[in-house]
Amino acid sequence: MASLFEKKIETLWGVGEKRAKLFNRLGIYTVGELLRFYPRAYEDYTSPVDIDRVTIGDYCCVKATLEAPVVTSKISGGRLLSRGTVFDQTGFLTLTFFNNKYIDKMLRPGREYTFYGKVSASRGGAEMLSPVFSDTETGHRIRPIYRTTAGLSSVNIENAMTQAVKLLPEEVKETVPHAMLKRYGIDTLGFAIRKIHFPDSSDELKRARRRLVFDELLVLTLGLRKLKTVKREETPVRIREDNSSEFYQMLPFKPTSAQLNATYECINDMLNSNAPMNRLIQGDVGSGKTAVAAALCYTVIKNGWQAAFMAPTEILAQQHYESLSAIFAAAGMTVELLIGSVTAANKKKIRERLKSGEIDLLIGTNAIISDGVEFKSLGLAVTDEQHRFGVRQRAKLMSKGDKPHTLVMSATPIPRTLALIIYGDLDISIIDELPPGRQRVSTFLINSKKRLAMFGFIKDHLDKGRQAYIVCPTVEENELNIASATEYCEKIRSGAFRNYSVGLLHGKMKQREKDDVMRDFVAGRIQLLVSTTVIEVGVDVPNAVIMAVENAERFGLSQLHQLRGRVGRGSERSYCFLISDAHGDDTVQRLKTMCRTSNGFEIADMDLKLRGPGDFFGSRQHGLPEMHIADLADMDALRLAQRAAEEIAALPGGLDNPECRSLRAEMRRLFSQVGAEGMN
Ligand code: ADP
Ligand code: MG
Repeated sequence: MASLFEKKIETLWGVGEKRAKLFNRLGIYTVGELLRFYPRAYEDYTSPVDIDRVTIGDYCCVKATLEAPVVTSKISGGRLLSRGTVFDQTGFLTLTFFNNKYIDKMLRPGREYTFYGKVSASRGGAEMLSPVFSDTETGHRIRPIYRTTAGLSSVNIENAMTQAVKLLPEEVKETVPHAMLKRYGIDTLGFAIRKIHFPDSSDELKRARRRLVFDELLVLTLGLRKLKTVKREETPVRIREDNSSEFYQMLPFKPTSAQLNATYECINDMLNSNAPMNRLIQGDVGSGKTAVAAALCYTVIKNGWQAAFMAPTEILAQQHYESLSAIFAAAGMTVELLIGSVTAANKKKIRERLKSGEIDLLIGTNAIISDGVEFKSLGLAVTDEQHRFGVRQRAKLMSKGDKPHTLVMSATPIPRTLALIIYGDLDISIIDELPPGRQRVSTFLINSKKRLAMFGFIKDHLDKGRQAYIVCPTVEENELNIASATEYCEKIRSGAFRNYSVGLLHGKMKQREKDDVMRDFVAGRIQLLVSTTVIEVGVDVPNAVIMAVENAERFGLSQLHQLRGRVGRGSERSYCFLISDAHGDDTVQRLKTMCRTSNGFEIADMDLKLRGPGDFFGSRQHGLPEMHIADLADMDALRLAQRAAEEIAALPGGLDNPECRSLRAEMRRLFSQVGAEGMN
């Protein structure tokens, strides 16, 4: 198996240079990676049901005969609508196809086929929309459905996969000690990889998935344990005095009890242990994490050490600098800002003063982890909005000192159960309270017919000197129906908002361009900002009072929550509009959750329940390796993996035991994707 990760995808028959590029786009470069590209769904032709047993709203498989030729007619927009009726001993079912010119040639009256598709209610009974089908003679299996990209279909991938599976050696090398497999009743890796793509029954599929999920979670758990132990060596950074309350007295506001609590937990880590603090503060948007981090920086500096505060964007770093430098200066401390746009001469000066110990607190972007930046005595490293950084960057910041205390902050609340896994290497503090006097953002779910009215509402607020955001989902090529930020912006610039200054922000822009646009928005030179989700990160523009999200159904709730957190930061009443024409019950329920509550943790729980943990993991939000198959909402699987990890730790030599060699290799491979160092 290991060698297949060296075998290029081009070596497969039918995969030329051009097609290889398409595979690359899906993150597949080698045959090994192809084999790890698991189906996103299956068409199950193995268990047809009688027509009178189909469930409305479910995907079903029926074996039925076409009654009469399929009839095709033209409908609005020049589209083709084809209808046919099939029957079995128990009843009739309508089939509907759109824009399929050849359907009447593909389906013959009087012949029996196996149809697979989603069943909905129709006037006379049940209807199957655009089903896939096969001749009953040939089709008797479970077909894999793969995630695709323009120009590369699921069938293309299936064909390549058929070959890849054949390249697997008879006995695929096991990653898990044999005794353990037996004890847990888990199938072999070879079985699992073959059957996850081409199962012969749903039972085989279940077993294959169980094995692969187990592996993935085991590797994740082991990796996180390893990170934890690497970091827990003794630190020379000794903190003897807690100065946080002194700091809080200098602020214009009183800290909330949640802020005090988090501060206390951090201080406690630093005071009472020889190991460096390694803590995450999780707090909702606007809960005041910056003040907590600042109180800790202050304490560490008072104890004779330097502190570093790293933010993901220039704007954010600048905001932190502006809000903190005066307070620290009043206490006789020196704060500097190090970001990309600082001139080379000034950078040099900052580096010198940092090395000599003249600077107490360095705030900046990842410019502060670049080579040549050296601290005299770094005692505390803070990473803000940590999901924007990889494990590697965090580690690099730590390496600027000798085992400094570290604090990371995240505004993405995640359910506790999940947090324990994701942040297996960190201790966690939670700020679950907002400062007093915050207004709730009034949130409305509207359909696109109301868009014009909403534009009017936005204009009223712009006229009053306020600002607004409109967020569009990121476009993927073959999804033209989804609003693209660029097009959208052009349209409203020449249309509804032609008399206003409209800015555009999207992920394809250079960092410098993005920063410029954000700066213009912060300064009020841009009134309305059209953006993709790049806006998510915690910038504070209190004058922005409206957040409108197009195609809201495309976003996870936690993401919507983050977006909504961009408004409601000032004293003015703020609004959030979720625009969606989606009808599905789940979708509407999800979006309504947003209208009902503003509690980030409640929203995260709902998200986990309704969409699974994909939103927390799929987009690599946490700088952790991407899970291919594991569903982290599956607590049983998690517990099993954790038990196994403990057993492995108890083996002679632990992970270094010869039986664990390939497990170790797999762990390194997984974690190298996110740049975790020290995983040997
Ligand atoms: P986040 O947790 O999203 O990073 P910030 O630290 O940016 O939140 O704080 C949001 C705003 O709330 C800031 O303007 C900050 O000055 C203010 N703030 C923080 N703590 C308090 C408090 N205890 N009372 C009043 N305002 C506060
Ligand atoms: Mg923040």
